[in-house]
Amino acid sequence: MLTAWLWSLIPTFVLAVPTTTVYLHRTVTHRALTLNPLVEWWFKFANWITTGVDPAVWAAVHRKHHAYSDIEVAPDKRDPHSPWLEGFWHIQLGNVWYYLAELRKHPETLTTFARDVLNRRTWWDRHFFRRGWMGLMFGTAFLCLVLGVQSFLNDKPLAEAFREGLLLGSLAAVIHAVTFVFLLNPSINALCHWPHRWLGGYQNSRAAHALRTTNNWVVALFTAGEGFHNNHHDQQATAMFAHNRWELIADWGYWAVVVPLRWLGLATDVRLPKQAAS
Ligand SMILES: [Zn+2]
Ligand SMILES: [Zn+2]
Repeated sequence: MLTAWLWSLIPTFVLAVPTTTVYLHRTVTHRALTLNPLVEWWFKFANWITTGVDPAVWAAVHRKHHAYSDIEVAPDKRDPHSPWLEGFWHIQLGNVWYYLAELRKHPETLTTFARDVLNRRTWWDRHFFRRGWMGLMFGTAFLCLVLGVQSFLNDKPLAEAFREGLLLGSLAAVIHAVTFVFLLNPSINALCHWPHRWLGGYQNSRAAHALRTTNNWVVALFTAGEGFHNNHHDQQATAMFAHNRWELIADWGYWAVVVPLRWLGLATDVRLPKQAAS
């Protein structure tokens, strides 16, 4: 069990968390930076095998969330996953279903909010990266293979190493999925849209479009900066979510991913928040 949990940390914190915040959120959805095509391919691949989310769907639902943050203007013009409209625990526990329900109820959301992403789809996107189930199966099989090889190298007979790889690899994949789907992702859409001082939530901005959001340093640390959600709603198209030095420590999506890529010339047009740019 401990082995499976330790191995689950790789798909969760090395791949899914930084890929979601840097690629899906900061790059595809808000265009706060431009990535070298090879780096972009890598992020698409990492996203495909660890979250299975179609980047166009993610961008569309999230842009609609920004367009109608926590409000309903009409049945088809409402925040797709607001805890204020649906109830806190509905979003905290059922976040992923609200993404799927949005596309089922309002398929036009995809073309209305993410036409640019759809137009830029490549051969890889059309044949592989938009088929999440295929990527998740590939990711799980890879974990099983790695853990099976590890058992074999620890002098287990081949049949036993095969069984152990299958069991521990599948278990690691399930632990990753539960952590990501039920704990990390919904904490942004629920906890960080619920501005009470639970676990140290606070606001830097009281602007109307950020009023029902909160920053949370602990959530930010586990989500590579996403937890600075009040900052993000205040200034959306920025590659750095931290607005001060203390927050920057937790925004490792910026300093551990965006900054090295920029140094290497693999990330360009990096947009910074007003505080950091001035
Ligand atoms: Zn939000
Ligand atoms: Zn956003």
